[in-house]
Amino acid sequence: MDRPNLPRSPASIEIQALVVRLHATHAGDLTGHLADYIPELAKADPAGFGIAIAHASGEVVTAGDALTPFTIQSVSKALTLAMLLDLVGREETYSAVGVQPSGDPFNAIMLDPRTKRPFNPMVNAGAIAVAGRLRETLGPDAFTQILACLGEAAGRELQVDQAVFESERETGHRNRAIGHLLRAADVFTVPVDDVLDLYFRQCSLLVTATDLAVMGATLANIGTNPVTRRDVFGMEAVRETLSVMFTCGMYDGAGDWACRVGLPAKSGVGGGIMAVVNRQLGIGVYSPLLDAAGNSVRGQACCAGLAEELGLHAFDSTNSGSSFFSGMGHAP
Ligand code: GLN
Repeated sequence: MDRPNLPRSPASIEIQALVVRLHATHAGDLTGHLADYIPELAKADPAGFGIAIAHASGEVVTAGDALTPFTIQSVSKALTLAMLLDLVGREETYSAVGVQPSGDPFNAIMLDPRTKRPFNPMVNAGAIAVAGRLRETLGPDAFTQILACLGEAAGRELQVDQAVFESERETGHRNRAIGHLLRAADVFTVPVDDVLDLYFRQCSLLVTATDLAVMGATLANIGTNPVTRRDVFGMEAVRETLSVMFTCGMYDGAGDWACRVGLPAKSGVGGGIMAVVNRQLGIGVYSPLLDAAGNSVRGQACCAGLAEELGLHAFDSTNSGSSFFSGMGHAP
């Protein structure tokens, strides 16, 4: 999709300047490490760094490498959760996976001992459970439908990075162990290999920071992509997904994130973060240098900077974000 050449409102011109400033502030910070447990991810350019913000009116502002492709990885977990919620509803979705923060690393090989289900859909076990139910519900066509749905959320056709997919399929032994654990607990009944194939493919989709911003804005805009104006997710699926992103989206960094940034968000080991300002904005950041929890270092710093400067924190007493952003989308 070509981005429409929208009129620039005064608010979006100010935000553009802020995003450029934040990019310049953090560009020199090369702390963190590339994910290398998926060998192909270790080939990413550590200097790669892009920021994009999409408003619910459809306006998009960017800075740096906002059109550089990288694999979506775990950011896809939020979107496949929304898809499953739309397809089978809350009750059936939550018969496969819980909504409690786990406090364990994202790749922990464990189930919630009380429920015998994964703790939540944002850790690998929960996302593989969601993939299992999607495979069960949609059959061999499941990946085509995930591709179509995530493409609708981004507003353009997406593609798989075949090298990353194969790299993860060959080395993803922990995820295979999780798959068998879930199959043994009857979380899904289809073959484990089919489910992992689906999960690895969804993680290997190539996106840009701009795509993540538009996907986030689709969630912010109650499921309608604000650029293409096409409906992607239902209202209930969006509410559930944002709630789970708020409590569990940043793995065992989720509590710090909730206090520091105060926005529902999802990170991925490809270096992407998608954050959502409800009813207003989607934020997409790309920088592949990660902290120990697997979250992008500069991505988190940029989101914290945006939240602070624009008053985006959900519980900020001034809540200035709401009034500031009401000016976006209105050209003079
Ligand atoms: N595909 C990756 C994995 O399963 C996703 C992990 C992530 O982004 N945190 O290990």
